[in-house]
Amino acid sequence: MEKNYENDDSQYEEVCYICRRPESKAGRMFHIPPNVAVCADCMHTTMDAISKMDYQSMFKNPEMLQGFSDLWNAGMPTAEKKESPQEKMPEDTNSSTVEEKTQDSEGEEPKEEEKKQGTPIFPNIRFLNLGDLQGEGIPGRQRIKKRKKGEAPVIDIKNIPPPHKIKEKLDDYVIGQEKAKKVISVAVYNHYKRVATNTMDEIEIEKSNMLMIGPTGSGKTYLVKTLARILDVPLAITDATSLTEAGYIGDDIESVVSKLLAAADNDVDRAEQGIIFIDEIDKIAKKKNHNSRDVSGESVQQGMLKLLEGADVEVPVGASSKNAMVPLTTINTRNILFICGGAFPDLADIIKQRLQKQTSIGYGATLKDQFDKDANILDKVTIEDLKKFGMIPEFIGRLPIIYTLQGLSQDMLVKILKEPKNAILKQYQKLLEIDEVKLEFSDDALEAIAKKAMEKDTGARALRAIIEEFMLDIMYEIPKDENIGQVTITKEYIEGTGGPVIEIRHE
Ligand code: ADP
Repeated sequence: MEKNYENDDSQYEEVCYICRRPESKAGRMFHIPPNVAVCADCMHTTMDAISKMDYQSMFKNPEMLQGFSDLWNAGMPTAEKKESPQEKMPEDTNSSTVEEKTQDSEGEEPKEEEKKQGTPIFPNIRFLNLGDLQGEGIPGRQRIKKRKKGEAPVIDIKNIPPPHKIKEKLDDYVIGQEKAKKVISVAVYNHYKRVATNTMDEIEIEKSNMLMIGPTGSGKTYLVKTLARILDVPLAITDATSLTEAGYIGDDIESVVSKLLAAADNDVDRAEQGIIFIDEIDKIAKKKNHNSRDVSGESVQQGMLKLLEGADVEVPVGASSKNAMVPLTTINTRNILFICGGAFPDLADIIKQRLQKQTSIGYGATLKDQFDKDANILDKVTIEDLKKFGMIPEFIGRLPIIYTLQGLSQDMLVKILKEPKNAILKQYQKLLEIDEVKLEFSDDALEAIAKKAMEKDTGARALRAIIEEFMLDIMYEIPKDENIGQVTITKEYIEGTGGPVIEIRHE
């Protein structure tokens, strides 16, 4: 029977013994001899509960200790046999239940079970009678005939959209940022081409990790999210400021990989081809004058080097932190695309300084003005500038593709309001459409909104807040009157000097 199972492996998927979810839903299974599959979630919950057990009080209590050594000698607690697997779930595993179980177990015949029992998986923990998972009345495993071919969309070279197609899709959602979209499309195309062909020969194509520089609210996160959606790859977003070197308080660096694994529904193969976006990367720049040990800056950059390049990382399954009881799995980061993003606030000054130094002395004053006015000064960034900012050379070296996003102009903000496929205006229009009310915005109203947003200096992020403020009244008042057929938001309404234009429905 077992042989059969193995032969037909490709035709079937395993089912978690505890929660009964198949592999396609629950992710990879852990195999416990003799023949039990348990999903990562259940395994984790069990481990977690075991790790929380109060061993101290257990060992202080001589009766308990006796019970424990009985268990040890017997090999397995026999009382477990009576229980269904659900009852074995961790909530039950505190010291008193163990005691009860031990007492209950008296008089049962452990002999045969003992023989069946293979090598214990956890030599120090004997509360879970794994052999009983195969026990009477409960089917040892289920076979589900469903492992669709191509279910895991492993990226196939023929299916990677060419760069111009990737950019076209990005254009549907992301306004402006033409250069960035172009660079990202080519880089991603090359990256996945490299992944798909698995170039391991002498001309290994370099990994296309990226560094994205752009002010707050210019769409860095949005660009990456859109990209991951287009490519249908898992994405993990993390903030560099939350990362610390292993051993310090905070998330250790490898936690980004476990986030990705979670985003890939614990599917290791999918995770290994995903994207990790590390935001606020400028915040881990080396501090210029520091006497104390720099926990959050340089050492985090150091710690990330291996990940960026490609390394085997042991990550906990179904949990964000490693602890002794959480099962681990190995993920190779070689094909994971890392995109780092940051606003790099003083970088423009560093670039200006460098450019000024490069120019001849006599014209210094006029040239200074020229650089001050250059809105695209960040485009001129070099590796030297980034080093001066505080990024270590090895770190920048592993992000070969560097590009910048522009700060959003008022015109771009107007476009962001109405043009993307999921534009905020379209969302409100759709909402009111359900009430059969047409929502319009006059052009000068859109400009007024964009102008207000520009004042906040948080890029496109301000737009939603502004719109929500005045749309609240509209959304509240309109459904009151069924005769209303159309609402037009005017500049006066936005500026607080007038109201919206309301038109009555023509029957
Ligand atoms: P950043 O990560 O650069 O600080 P975000 O990507 O979080 O900024 O942008 C905030 C929001 O603004 C996004 O959710 C998106 O809706 C909108 N947005 C920003 N830039 C653009 C853009 N170029 N095109 C369309 N929407 C944008």
